[in-house]
Amino acid sequence: MNIKGNTQSKRLNFWEKIYLPEVVKGLAITIKQAAQPKMTRQYPEEVFEPDGSYRGRPVLVLEEEGERCVACGLCSRVCPALAIEVRAGETERRKERFPELFEINMLRCIFCGFCEEVCPEEAIVMSKDNEMVFEDREEAILGKDKLLIPIAQLQDRLDFLREKQYYNHN
Ligand code: SF4
Ligand code: SF4
Repeated sequence: MNIKGNTQSKRLNFWEKIYLPEVVKGLAITIKQAAQPKMTRQYPEEVFEPDGSYRGRPVLVLEEEGERCVACGLCSRVCPALAIEVRAGETERRKERFPELFEINMLRCIFCGFCEEVCPEEAIVMSKDNEMVFEDREEAILGKDKLLIPIAQLQDRLDFLREKQYYNHN
């Protein structure tokens, strides 16, 4: 090894000087990788169907009796992006309070899942929905009409949360 000043250089042998073995090694890696299963997806022709661990846009759980949310406001308080706005109203139904207004600003949401984790009613969960297109800022603020999703469509996520013991407030 020659050391001149601060620079170091290594004496190369014949094969190293012509680079051929390294080129062959590189090609072998490329060919090996080309034979591996493809990781790319021809979206949107091939639809992505994630499992319950996926965190898509947050939504509200809708049961037969109505929404689960009792408008406690915890999700709104914990949201680091200040994306959730809840206004409570009173009702005669099974639960005394319900969200008169519930909005999530999807331009702010960072899909952290804190709202889901903190909810005492298992009323807000991360769905599988990952297809969001907005033409203006107003459209990105989702109200109850877009947030309330029937529980049957959210069962995978609810099962996943129970299995991983996210919910321990029972
Ligand atoms: S979604 Fe859950 S945490 Fe948020 S206001 Fe409703 S009950 Fe409270
Ligand atoms: S996922 Fe995170 S950022 Fe999005 S609304 Fe819930 S708490 Fe807020």
